[in-house]
Amino acid sequence: MSAPLRLMAVHAHPDDESSKGAATMARYVREGVEVLVCTLTGGERGSVLNPKMDRPDIVANIAEVRRAEMDRAREILGVQQRFMGFVDSGLPESEEEELPEGCFALQKLDVAAEPLVAAVREFRPHVIITYDDDGGYPHPDHIMTNRVSVEAFEAAGDPDRYPGTGDPWQPLKLYYQMGFTKERFEALHEAMTARGMGSPYSDWIARWEDRPAKWPVTTRVPCADYFELRDQALLAHATQVDPDGFWFVCPRELQQEIWPTEDYHLARSLVDTELPEDDLFAGIHADEVSPACH
Ligand SMILES: [Zn+2]
Repeated sequence: MSAPLRLMAVHAHPDDESSKGAATMARYVREGVEVLVCTLTGGERGSVLNPKMDRPDIVANIAEVRRAEMDRAREILGVQQRFMGFVDSGLPESEEEELPEGCFALQKLDVAAEPLVAAVREFRPHVIITYDDDGGYPHPDHIMTNRVSVEAFEAAGDPDRYPGTGDPWQPLKLYYQMGFTKERFEALHEAMTARGMGSPYSDWIARWEDRPAKWPVTTRVPCADYFELRDQALLAHATQVDPDGFWFVCPRELQQEIWPTEDYHLARSLVDTELPEDDLFAGIHADEVSPACH
């Protein structure tokens, strides 16, 4: 029997795993891949984004409530999940606004990356998914998530770095999650318009700069059959996701027809692979990957 393949997804807040790459994870889990979500912060400074949940009892216990939501989403997706123990930096309202003392985005890189290096050395993923260096969207925790993920990918295999966090392990591929591409939203927008549905994306697309993607999509993972699980996991984050809001404006069946993949940019690879890919594990063979092989 070959050893199972392992996938690690690194996220900033509870709910990010359900809005970025969730169907990919749900699919791989059901194909026998071990999947671990590492959530860097507890989401303590997230606002309640669903008006139906904006109640004093919920706001007062937001950290606890978000943990319970994360548990439910984890069960739905079938993944393992761990919090890395940092405190949400919050989304500043302007560039001048200072970040709160002690928050994740203000940590020194080696302090911020250490728990993730330890998790990589323990879980031993073949593939890591994270955000691009703009964070996918400009939340300081998302940008920091990119930095610690790249650091962990580069350092976890080096026995001289991060002593005391376990035996070295070198992951083989690093991906940036690319769900928010202009191409995808244009395609959904056109399909909705063509069917006489109002599209919520027009202003957004108009504001999008027309320039070549900094991180071109290299890898499209077919996962339309898992969009329903993705949506259930999103809804489990009830304080963050309004069932009548942004995520659900485009009918699921239309998404499945028009854009049946979740997309990625292959940022680092230590294996030979041919682009474009349709599998995050392309070029990796579990039975050839022994624990001692770096
Ligand atoms: Zn987030």
